[in-house]
Amino acid sequence: ASSDKQTSPKPPPSPSPLRNSKFCQSNMRILISGGAGFIGSHLVDKLMENEKNEVIVADNYFTGSKDNLKKWIGHPRFELIRHDVTEPLLIEVDQIYHLACPASPIFYKYNPVKTIKTNVIGTLNMLGLAKRVGARILLTSTSEVYGDPLIHPQPESYWGNVNPIGVRSCYDEGKRVAETLMFDYHRQHGIEIRIARIFNTYGPRMNIDDGRVVSNFIAQALRGEALTVQKPGTQTRSFCYVSDMVDGLMRLMEGDDTGPINIGNPGEFTMVELAETVKELINPSIEIKMVENTPDDPRQRKPDITKAKEVLGWEPKVKLREGLPLMEEDFRLRLGVLKN
Ligand code: NAD
Ligand code: UDP
Ligand code: UDP
Repeated sequence: ASSDKQTSPKPPPSPSPLRNSKFCQSNMRILISGGAGFIGSHLVDKLMENEKNEVIVADNYFTGSKDNLKKWIGHPRFELIRHDVTEPLLIEVDQIYHLACPASPIFYKYNPVKTIKTNVIGTLNMLGLAKRVGARILLTSTSEVYGDPLIHPQPESYWGNVNPIGVRSCYDEGKRVAETLMFDYHRQHGIEIRIARIFNTYGPRMNIDDGRVVSNFIAQALRGEALTVQKPGTQTRSFCYVSDMVDGLMRLMEGDDTGPINIGNPGEFTMVELAETVKELINPSIEIKMVENTPDDPRQRKPDITKAKEVLGWEPKVKLREGLPLMEEDFRLRLGVLKN
């Protein structure tokens, strides 16, 4: 196959003359893989606000749902395709936001081989598509590339401390290979790439039984169940509200820097602190119980966002205590638990 030949770097193909003409200079056809998921569907909402954008979502509905996109189905500038990114996709687009990949540990560990395929073959296919049509592509990588970090907070220059053979590796190492593929297509084929390293994100539309800590605690508090803090409870995470995340991703796509760039909220909390905050805000009579943890759980995580501030002029606006009530409202509606 031609792909195996050793060739010198080629310039990217020029975009089609029609799309480049002055008649539709600023019209954009944008693909969002994984756009039926939590972050993807919020990104769709924001991109659809611009009347010059045509948005195409490709999703296999593994963890996402049509429900997240129901307000756009039937809209003339919107298209939804049932598609698995591990299969080739032949369409014409100007930009690709490549999000397709389960993000919650319970889902990515459910079929780890599929998770690796999604990260490796899925990213390869999206890059092949970007190469064929001359599109710019943004990958949503993750703070998990830093593993159980030995440097705190984590700057982009840190190479990480990842277990290559653990139960989280299908995700961590999968994303690391995806980043490598992005840079190799950039260097070898001149593809325009953008890499975001996303830190823990929360907000409305998260799967109620997603298994991630913020959605677990809010659902538990509303159902009157004890909040399950996994031991030791001193491990930390830094939580970014989804509207801030979407703003950061769009700035990165539109800017000139390839990244990787950390996008996250530097406000850092232990899991015990998070449980206490949810308890205080949502249900003060609830109990907090300590439960067993899973292997390789990172002990601390906090983004160094100096680069995002400098390069993108971005920093998060929504504090945890402001974002949790917005998510609570959405969970109340979906769980049918009214506020007394
Ligand atoms: P999500 O699980 O809600 O969304 C992922 C979407 O991808 C879902 O709609 C799912 O159906 C789809 N998908 C999965 N495998 C697919 C495949 N093979 N083909 C097509 N579609 C597929 O997760 P999210 O929180 O919205 O995360 C979106 C992206 O951001 C992911 O790439 C994730 O790795 C990254 N990220 C998220 C977080 C976070 O805290 N939410 C943190 C770091 C990185
Ligand atoms: N690909 C795709 N859509 C396209 C172009 C390519 O899904 O519009 C897939 C293609 O099937 C291949 C991958 O992207 O598996 C990488 O494509 P590339 O052209 O870089 O490599 P090659 O096809 O030469 O192996
Ligand atoms: N966690 C917890 N209780 C839960 C779910 C998760 O204490 O019900 C902890 C988990 O041990 C980890 C942190 O919350 O230390 C974040 O886990 P999550 O799965 O949300 O995301 P991760 O950052 O690990 O991908």
